[in-house]
Amino acid sequence: MKIRKKIVAGNWKMNKSVSEASELVGHIKRGLHDCREVDVVLCPPFTGLAAVSEAVADTSMKVGAQNMHWEKDGAYTGEISAAMLRDLYCRYVILGHSERRTYFGETDQVVNRKLKAAIEANLIPIVCVGETLEQRDEDKTKDVVQSQIENSLVGLDKNLGGVLLAYEPIWAIGTGRTATPDQAQEVHDFIRKVLTGMADKDTADSIRIQYGGSVKPGNARELFGQPDIDGALVGGAALEARSFVEIVQAAAELVTGQPTGR
Ligand code: PEP
Repeated sequence: MKIRKKIVAGNWKMNKSVSEASELVGHIKRGLHDCREVDVVLCPPFTGLAAVSEAVADTSMKVGAQNMHWEKDGAYTGEISAAMLRDLYCRYVILGHSERRTYFGETDQVVNRKLKAAIEANLIPIVCVGETLEQRDEDKTKDVVQSQIENSLVGLDKNLGGVLLAYEPIWAIGTGRTATPDQAQEVHDFIRKVLTGMADKDTADSIRIQYGGSVKPGNARELFGQPDIDGALVGGAALEARSFVEIVQAAAELVTGQPTGR
């Protein structure tokens, strides 16, 4: 079985001014003592990217954006290209977050265009998928997730471009309601089977699948203990240094087997 390094990414959404972003990173740096057992990614809004990139330059933390446009440049008012993100030392980009799908009409086809542009620009994409509560209640979770993955990742080569996936059940995002570790594991395991149908087994085994949806210090350990949960995409709890640091430490402790950095 492949050992996949855990990855915890904080999605700050439309929160934090530049000075608040710098302050938050300062606290996270002090709390984590440059923890290297886990990949840690901070995703501030576009306006915070420069400050956060500079602040993490002397650590192993990386910076990600929350969105991008698929074109390289041109008359696309209000948009940001992959090259512009690279220019600000971004390594990751979140694509297809449910809030973008719901409020900004992003389809799998749009996600696919962005994904290809991100890969071409050497960004690591985190592609989000997940079902609504209604879809879960109608037992459509697997169909929805499979179709989102197959359509969003269509046309990639057999290594799937080094993509990361985030399974984020929409009913668990920002609601305080988390999928149980068993519920999440069941879908993560299914996602890996879908990936096995699209890529070679080695690739499918090595792709990291994060869980997202009300991850908190109190539930992180149990979620990270599941065989196919390779980390978390964290929203609300990433806005506060203490809770974010504790979530990263929960992942690190699984690697080291001992309490870290407290
Ligand atoms: C998210 O928006 O990606 C997310 C998982 O949010 P929260 O942790 O607040 O549920």
